[in-house]
Amino acid sequence: MNQKEFLILENLSYSYTDRIKVLKDINLRIREKELIGIIGPNGSGKTTLLKCVAGVLKNYEGSIKIYGKEINTFRRKEIAKIITFVSQNFSPAFDFTVKELIHMGRIPYHTFFQNSSIGDQEIVEAAILAMDLNGFENRRFNNLSEGEKRRVVFAKALAQDTTILLLDEPFAHLDINYSYETAKLIRMRVREFEKTIIGVFHNINMASLFCDRIIVMNNGKIIAEGDPEKVYREEIINEAFKTNCTIISHPRIKKPQVLIDWK
Ligand code: ADP
Repeated sequence: MNQKEFLILENLSYSYTDRIKVLKDINLRIREKELIGIIGPNGSGKTTLLKCVAGVLKNYEGSIKIYGKEINTFRRKEIAKIITFVSQNFSPAFDFTVKELIHMGRIPYHTFFQNSSIGDQEIVEAAILAMDLNGFENRRFNNLSEGEKRRVVFAKALAQDTTILLLDEPFAHLDINYSYETAKLIRMRVREFEKTIIGVFHNINMASLFCDRIIVMNNGKIIAEGDPEKVYREEIINEAFKTNCTIISHPRIKKPQVLIDWK
């Protein structure tokens, strides 16, 4: 892959309290249009890493540079034009319609004097179309199914029109078919819209299908990284998750999948 490296993490460490580092010397170089999956056991620092990159946690040690500029020096509105953070439990404070919510993706582009433009309308329409939400525009978000909600949240993220999307467990709480169908749709749109994704995945088999590159975290450190074929090895998965597992290649898709041994 010869895309430009544009997001560079060097010796990144983070502590919530004085004593314990939950991220320890993370080094990572991310290229444009990569689909990156972070996997690792609970408490290994995955969400903390996403929050540092999102500019939510600013008092980190080391460096996170995007297009050469340190992330904790950006103003909120500036960063919102480059990075969208899609958290796991999005629940709006008011009973918004689908269209109103997707429009909120455009807020970083508005000034005090100018709210919505024709350009915004077109971008919102494109996001609705991309996520198969035609006919849902006037439905209340709170009345949708979990799968429909995921598509709306992702349409809002597309409308925000940033280079990077950070996804915190994007397909959690969906049934097996819906989670894979939603993942396939999102992967297709991410490629089309040429986005870079950094996502935290609990479902490691999904991560193998969705991502170009996998980062395995354990105890605040990166213990392995590379394409799924390189990283999905029994010794690596067993070390990170304390499992006994068998790795197979998916017979049709030819991507590694993890089976947990049951003795
Ligand atoms: P993961 O996403 O891999 O489950 P997290 O990044 O959420 O891991 O958490 C890493 C560690 O940081 C855990 O030990 C967790 O308890 C701790 N932690 C997370 N958020 C906070 C917080 N707001 N204050 C103090 N400790 C936290």
